[in-house]
Amino acid sequence: MLILGKPGGGKGTISGKILKDFPRFHHVSTGDLLRQHVNEGTQLGKEAKSFMESGKLVPDSLMINLLMDDAKPYIEEGRSLLLDGFPRTLQQAQALEEVAHIDTVVNLDIPTNTIVERIADRWIHPASGRIYSYSYKPPKAVGKDDVTGEPLVQRDDDKPESVRTRLAAYDKVTAPLVDWYRRKGLVQTFRGTESDVIYPQVKAYLEEKNF
Ligand code: AMP
Repeated sequence: MLILGKPGGGKGTISGKILKDFPRFHHVSTGDLLRQHVNEGTQLGKEAKSFMESGKLVPDSLMINLLMDDAKPYIEEGRSLLLDGFPRTLQQAQALEEVAHIDTVVNLDIPTNTIVERIADRWIHPASGRIYSYSYKPPKAVGKDDVTGEPLVQRDDDKPESVRTRLAAYDKVTAPLVDWYRRKGLVQTFRGTESDVIYPQVKAYLEEKNF
C-alpha cells in the first residue's frame, strides 16, 4: 500500500494510525530513513543532506537503493508494506513496480494553505525527535522540550522557503503520479484538513478491502 500526498499533509500521522489498527504492515518512511542517515553521518546521509535542507528531492538512484535495501527482505518474505514518501517520481514508481505488487494507493488531498500554516507551527526537539505544534500539541514552556527543557528548533526543510520548494516539487513531479496510479484504478482519495477526521474514513476503506 502506498500513501501519497503533499509534504506536511499528515502522511506520517495517518501511517502511524494505520499501523496501530493494521499491524500486518511494515512501515517504510523514506523521509525517516534519510533523516536517520543524516543523523548518523553516513555517506548517503552526507549526499542527501543538502537536497533535504533546501526542500529538493533526493536523486532517484539514491532513493531507489535506499528503499530497496530496507524493503527487499520484507518483500521477499511476502510481508505487506506501507510505503510513506516513496515513490515521489515516475522513475521511482517504475522501479517499485518491478519488485512489488501494489494493492492500493491512499491519496491524502489536503489544502495547501492548511499545510503551510501547519508546517510553520511544527517544532521539534532534535535529540529525541519529539514533535510539538503550537496549535494542537504545545510545549509546556514556549520554545522548550517538555522532558529536557532543551530548545526546540524547526526542521531545516520546515522553514518557509523550503516548504515552498517542497510543495512546488510535489506539484510538478509527484502529483502526476497520482494520475498514473489512478489510470491503473488503484487510487482512493481522502480530502480534509484534520487527520482525526480523515483517518476513520481511511480505516473504514481498508477494512472494506479486508486489510
Ligand atoms: P518527508 O519526511 O517524506 O517529507 O521527506 C523529507 C525529505 O526527504 C524530502 O523533502 C526529500 O528531500 C527527501 N525525500 C524523502 N523521500 C523521498 C523520495 N522518495 N524521493 C526523493 N526525495 C525524498
